[in-house]
Parts: sequence; C-alpha cells; structure tokens
Amino acid sequence: MNTLKPKERMQIQRNEMPEQKPEERVHNFNEVPLGFDPEMAVLEATRCLDCKKPECIAGCPVGIDIPGFLNKIVDQDFAGAAAKIRETNFLPAICGRVCPQDQQCELVCIVGRKNKPVSIGYLERFVSDYERDNGIRTTPEVAPPTGHSMAVVGSGPAGLTAAYELRKRGHEVTVFEAFHRGGGVLVYGIPRFRLPLEVIDEDIRTLEEMGVKFQYDAIVGKSMTLDELMGPEFGFSSIFLGTGAGLPKMLGIKGENLNGIYSANEYLTRIYMMGALHFPEYVTPIHQGAKVGVIGAGNTAMDVARTAKRMGAEVTVYYRRSREEAPARKEELRHATEEFINFKFLTNPVEFIGDENYTLKAIKCEVMTLAEPDESGRRKPIGTGEFFTEDVDTVVFSLGCNVNPIIAEATPELKTDKWGVVSADRGTLETSKKGVFAGGDIITGGAKVITAMGQAKIAAQAMHDYVMSLEMETA
Ligand SMILES: Cc1cc2nc3c(=O)[nH]c(=O)nc-3n(C[C@H](O)[C@H](O)[C@H](O)COP(=O)(O)OP(=O)(O)OC[C@H]3O[C@@H](n4cnc5c(N)ncnc54)[C@H](O)[C@@H]3O)c2cc1C
Ligand code: SF4
Repeated sequence: MNTLKPKERMQIQRNEMPEQKPEERVHNFNEVPLGFDPEMAVLEATRCLDCKKPECIAGCPVGIDIPGFLNKIVDQDFAGAAAKIRETNFLPAICGRVCPQDQQCELVCIVGRKNKPVSIGYLERFVSDYERDNGIRTTPEVAPPTGHSMAVVGSGPAGLTAAYELRKRGHEVTVFEAFHRGGGVLVYGIPRFRLPLEVIDEDIRTLEEMGVKFQYDAIVGKSMTLDELMGPEFGFSSIFLGTGAGLPKMLGIKGENLNGIYSANEYLTRIYMMGALHFPEYVTPIHQGAKVGVIGAGNTAMDVARTAKRMGAEVTVYYRRSREEAPARKEELRHATEEFINFKFLTNPVEFIGDENYTLKAIKCEVMTLAEPDESGRRKPIGTGEFFTEDVDTVVFSLGCNVNPIIAEATPELKTDKWGVVSADRGTLETSKKGVFAGGDIITGGAKVITAMGQAKIAAQAMHDYVMSLEMETA
C-alpha cells in the first residue's frame, strides 16, 4: 500500500531508465534501454497519485487499469501487476517498449502537470520482463470449445491479439502468415535494439500453448482465397484480416530506380527478418555503402538510420520540414541524435544521380522553408530555389506505407478506398464481405501497435457475436 501523502509523492523525481552509452551501442544490436530494477520500479510506481478519475486510463487505447497495476508494484506484487495489465493487454512487454506513451497515457498523467509524468511505459515493461525472467508467466485460460474455427490472416500485433481474444473465448484458431515466422512489423520492421526477438517469440509461444495453430509461408489471396477459407476445404466460420500496410511509398523523382536505393521495408526486412545483420552466418547480404541517406523523419526513418549506423555507415537523415515537425517519437529522435546521425532539416531530395553502371552516387536536394501554418496548424514546406548535391552510396526511403493489394485484388466483394485501405464497419469492424472482419494497419494505413491491438479486440468480440448468432439462426 502506498503510505506516502500525495505531496510527498509529488516530490519524488521521475526515475530515468539506464541506457547503453551511445559510443558503445552503435557497435551492437542489443537493447538500448536497460530496464528498471525492482527498487527503481517500486519508487517510480510510488509517484502515482492513485487518482479518483484516472486520466491515464482514458489515454490508453486499450484502457489498461494503470493505477491498479502501479499499486501492485508498490506492494512488490510484480506478478499480480503483470496479470492486471494482461486483463486488457495481451502484449505488455511489447507495448512497454514501443508504445508512444508520451502521446498517450503519460501525456495526460496528472503528475505531469507539475513534475514529469509517472513512467507508465517503463513500468509496464518492467513487470512483464520480471515475469519472463523469473519464469512465472502462466498460460491464459481458454473457455470450453465452441465448435467454431476462426482464421486470422497476418501475425502482426493485430493478428496476434485477435488470435488471443478468439482462442480465449473457446474457438479453434489458425493464423495464416505470409512470412516464415510470426510477428509482422514487430519482427521485420522494429529493430532488435528496440524490441528483442525473445519478447515477441514468448508471446507467440503463449498463443501456441493456448492451442492457436500457425501456418507460415501462406499468402492468403494467392495460396488460398477467402472463399476457400470459408468453404468446405477449410471450414472457417469467420475470418480476421490483419495484413497490415506493407507497400512502400516512394517520392516518384528521377533516379529512384538506381541500384543502391531501398525502401525501409526491404532494408529492415533483409536485416532483421532475413538475418543480414549476421551475414555471412546467414546468407542474406545487404549492399550498403559507407554513406547512407535516409529520406523522412518518422519512427521508421529513425529505425533505419540507427540500423545503418550499426551496420557501419555514416548516416544522414533528409527531411523537408524542421526538427519540431519531425513525426518520430521524441525518444527516437534523441537516441538517433546521440548516436551521431546527421540531420539535414528543411531539405527535399529532388533527384538521385547514378554512375555508368546505373548505381547511385549522389543526391540532389532543394533547400526548403516553411510557410505560415494552414487551417490544420501545420506549416507547409516550400522550395527556395536553392539546390545542392552531395555524395551518397545508399538511400533508404522511409515515407510510410500503403496497404498491400493482394487480398483485395483476389476478393472483388472486399471494398477499399482509393488508396487500397480496406473499409470496415465502425462498430464491428466487419468488412463488406460477410463474416470477414479486419483491424490494424489494413483499415487505417500505417498507424500504431496499440491501435492495431485495440481494433483486433473489437473485431474479435464482433466475430464471436457473429458466429454465436449464426448458431441461434440455425437452432
Ligand atoms: C520500422 C517501423 C517502426 C515502427 N515503430 C513503431 C513504434 O515504435 N510504435 C508503434 O506503436 N508503432 C510502430 N510502427 C507501426 C506498427 O508497427 C504498425 O502500426 C503495426 O505493426 C500494425 O500491425 P498490423 O498487425 O496491422 O500489421 P503488421 O505488423 O504489418 O503485420 C501484418 C502481417 O500480415 C502478413 N501478411 C501480409 N499480407 C498477407 C497475406 N496476403 N497473407 C498472409 N499474411 C500476410 C505480413 O507478413 C505481416 O506479418 C512501426 C512501423 C515500422 C514499419
Ligand atoms: S494519471 Fe498519473 S497519477 Fe493519476 S492514476 Fe494515472 S498514473 Fe497515477
């Protein structure tokens, strides 16, 4: 029990997370933040004021009982704290590492009005790591069999959450995944120095222990259609689509097809999913030159820049707006800056220049300035007419992604918008094809892990209601 008075709690300063030093970490792929120890965690949790109307819960897209789990940390009941989070969030070790808490729960934490907010994310990470490190995690209970089989397409955070929620309700669940392993962007996008593989693998193992089946190397829309999945051969009662947004956006400028130019997806997938960071132990190489340019300044761009640095390059980020407008999380920008990444703000690439072998050798950019804020409050970048050219061997585009069209092309009844984003009912997340539901980046375009999870929870409940109502109809 927290015995300190609110005033005393407010005086405790936020515990900063110990981290690997920049000059060491740029030579390895180990996690940068080192985690709290139990003493730090208890002290940090003590800062919570246990508000009567906790703003933090409202700020969490899946509504975790934040003061509830913080109180358990204060009581040193770390397993109880982890169980409390898991009531609403199946992937706390992942969310504790990659959620933008500074824009969600911590943004609205009342302590933040006078002091720095409670480190909710670091504490979420602490309790789930404690569970894993001490081997005390238990397999979640599964309701008695319903007799229904559900298909989940895609094994990113949306697919894993949908599989968990459906299995928990007693349905048979099979996850179909195009790649040879599960995790989606958590594995092929987010780098190991932010999210270690064992964290994701443990969550997949838990699902397997619950009885969820995984079928890898299965591209739905090519290997089998949605109709086949719901037909007599497979016999699924309902399908969840969580195939994400993996189709890279490019700028459409001259020289974009030169050798040496990658999309962030290809670059990161080769390194993390195909093992290029362990070359020649793994056979996938990455042809990266000494000077790498990264286009964009979101989280993906920071991940690419910091990865390229660890692969031995001198790295420059080119972004057409200023640092203040950069969409990356503050922590990612700070980490990248500490890791000696160069930033060229107000700089817009206009052309890539190649040599006689059609290989990239230079980038031409225009210097930009910012217009007055528009109705949305955003300042539009405008060209100054001043250009410069500099040498670069490799460029990685990190400008976000569109939805992959494979499933929609194979399923004419599936409605999408003009960008290929799949349309779904706002309340149930059912698509225009009966019995097929969707959640995550496939219905929003590139968004966030926690948003994908929140939607998967809504869709899983709606799928459960749907198959149960089918029974009533036939009874
Ligand atoms: C580099 C990078 C860094 C990011 N960092 C963060 C971060 O720090 N915090 C954050 O909240 N968000 C971050 N995001 C965004 C976040 O990862 C996504 O919003 C989230 O992963 C979306 O989850 P999803 O399950 O919808 O899709 P995905 O994670 O994309 O998973 C989709 C899965 O479906 C599979 N699939 C696709 N098509 C088929 C098919 N036809 N058949 C079978 N399987 C298929 C794919 O192989 C993939 O495994 C980042 C994204 C990237 C690219
Ligand atoms: S808003 Fe902050 S202080 Fe209040 S309950 Fe949530 S974490 Fe605790």
